[in-house]
Amino acid sequence: MVDLNAPVWKTLYSAGNDAEKWLGRLLSGEAEFREVMEILGEDLSHQLSWYSATAYVLPHLAVFCKKLSPEERMFLVGQIGPAIAAAESENGLPPDTEDFRELQEGLDGLRPLVQDLIRNHQDTLDAAGPEEQQMFALGALAVLGNRRHAYDLFLLSAYCWEEGHAACACGWNNECFPLGEKPGCLKPAGIAPWDGQSLADEAVWFSGLLSRFGDEEILPVLPLVYGTGTCPECGKEEPYWTWLDRFMKDY
Ligand SMILES: [Zn+2]
Repeated sequence: MVDLNAPVWKTLYSAGNDAEKWLGRLLSGEAEFREVMEILGEDLSHQLSWYSATAYVLPHLAVFCKKLSPEERMFLVGQIGPAIAAAESENGLPPDTEDFRELQEGLDGLRPLVQDLIRNHQDTLDAAGPEEQQMFALGALAVLGNRRHAYDLFLLSAYCWEEGHAACACGWNNECFPLGEKPGCLKPAGIAPWDGQSLADEAVWFSGLLSRFGDEEILPVLPLVYGTGTCPECGKEEPYWTWLDRFMKDY
């Protein structure tokens, strides 16, 4: 964890280039928690871009989070989720960098807190509003699951998860791939019910969590995004995630 007064903060960037100012206010407790947390989250995830300050903010947030109530922890995870997922924009962070080490330290600190919220604070999670629940579920996916999947789902939020993108290596591609219409070339994954505790299978717990929240936006397309596509042109079978990532990379 890098001290807030260290010179490196002057070299880090965020959307407003003032992440350390907001982090300082948050940690000092002098400002309203939700208000400042929302500003900091937006400062670090504007347009779902990666900002170097995110990596250095996370270890501080992980320590700070321990002092919060379960309600506040849930809010924090929802607000910082997009910034964490944005580490997968472009080609991801190169390992063996200080940025990467800070990011890992932050995630190592946040992981047990998110696991605890999901396993032991069901009432708190259930009592939150639908938007906060959805943000928490996506944030939990960014912390506990495949960060690239979280990044993709944040991107698809722009289409309300009704449309995705798809591309096969043979050249076939579809910019407006109609997930909401359950296209015939995509075989849905069978996602088993969740026991409310195990976090071993991402599709199972993520889908189970959204199901508990009564989500009607992301949940219906999850069997498809975790499903298998058969290319309409060449017949090659691939996970839908592969189609989606190829489109983002190549088109
Ligand atoms: Zn193909």
